[in-house]
Amino acid sequence: MAQNVLLKIEHVTKIYGRKDRQFTAVKDINLAIHEGEFVALLGPSGCGKSTLLRMITGLIEPTSGTVYYRDKPIKGVNPYATIVFQTFALYPWLTVLENVALALEARGVARSERYRIAERLLDTVGLDGFEKAYPRELSGGMRQKVGFARALAVEPELLCLDEPFSALDVLSAEALRGELMELWIGEQLPIKAILMVSHNIEEAISMADRIVVMGKEPGHIVAEFAVDLPHPRDRKNPRFEQLLDYIYAAIAGRTLPEISEVGTAPGTPGPTRILPNASVNALAGLLEHLRTSGRQDIYKLDDELGLDMGDLIQVIEMAEMLGFATINEGDIELTPLGEAYAEASILTRKELFAQRARRLPMLQWMIQMLKVAPNNELPWKVFLTALLPEFPDEMAERQLDIAINWGRYAELIDYDDDNELIRLDLSNGRFEVESEVQKAR
Ligand code: ADP
Ligand code: MG
Repeated sequence: MAQNVLLKIEHVTKIYGRKDRQFTAVKDINLAIHEGEFVALLGPSGCGKSTLLRMITGLIEPTSGTVYYRDKPIKGVNPYATIVFQTFALYPWLTVLENVALALEARGVARSERYRIAERLLDTVGLDGFEKAYPRELSGGMRQKVGFARALAVEPELLCLDEPFSALDVLSAEALRGELMELWIGEQLPIKAILMVSHNIEEAISMADRIVVMGKEPGHIVAEFAVDLPHPRDRKNPRFEQLLDYIYAAIAGRTLPEISEVGTAPGTPGPTRILPNASVNALAGLLEHLRTSGRQDIYKLDDELGLDMGDLIQVIEMAEMLGFATINEGDIELTPLGEAYAEASILTRKELFAQRARRLPMLQWMIQMLKVAPNNELPWKVFLTALLPEFPDEMAERQLDIAINWGRYAELIDYDDDNELIRLDLSNGRFEVESEVQKAR
């Protein structure tokens, strides 16, 4: 590519934690972003996308390797790059205009100038007339626009977007994507390049010039795709569909040996595989659909199941993790076990699900702890505390919620809401033979 290189990442590795609690979030990443480029970073949750953005903007330092901006290694915060996050923390007691002006104040822009520039920026993102409104009076989409305006106030050369649309409803997200693209294509923004993190394949194909696909454990680059389609892009274009297939295959197509598929238990060496955030109902919906449709193109499933791509990926991961489906070159297909599940009665389904779910290290670990606990019960907090070193705070809580939901459905564990206690579900004989503690009584 002929354009100037803005950003260059060389052999970057990030390891979180210390000593025996080390976790490699990304490993040996090499990447360059050129002037005029819109690059999308795509990959499953936990593959280190946000980590990479935080290193690019200088919020955190790589453990090894170097991030260069215009050929100079970044030291501390990168003044040429800004991040727009999924949800923007706006100051509730300040008006929209004041929220944007504040970012300019931080840059040392004179008071008289601040409000003039802030007004222009709000105009640019389509918030003309809302200057005096307070954040609470705005819709999610409008609040996110204020976030964009505030990021632009810093006049970054490189605008980093971390899943900027994923907290919005479908329509607002689509509208905001369109507006951003108009500004970018129309060269109405002062920025020189965009790097957008996404877990939505269609979103990435419809916006970016180049898509970098990451895999996890540890985070690494799997593949790159150039999107050679004119704007505005048509999702029905065969090339668009082909890219969807290729990229999906790159993300989910690799079949790993079982130990890395299911991960290890919390507190043991090796990565604890993140449980996808999907419900048993969604799983049943997917498997029933596949039973009638047979082998299917994954990207067609979001419409057919009424799920967005993000949710769909989660359900598919769940099906794959439990051994109910396999993925190959962008297609998904039931395994014989998945077929059995889809055809079974409610009770048999529960049984099949329980057999598979209890093999997952996370649930195995919980069950093991409960087996040896007094009365086979433990406070929810005990599990949360054990998970905190493995995941960032809110993720630990979400992981525990998912494990509880799956475990409850499988009748492996029970959750006592009033006392915040998790206990072994002994009502159905699933643990009759095994529960040493029970036998001893
Ligand atoms: P993504 O944005 O792709 O979902 P992240 O960059 O947020 O991924 O996280 C990558 C991995 O690093 C995850 O497994 C996550 O649990 C872990 N991680 C992220 N931040 C921290 C942190 N501050 N301390 C320890 N582990 C972290
Ligand atoms: Mg992230």
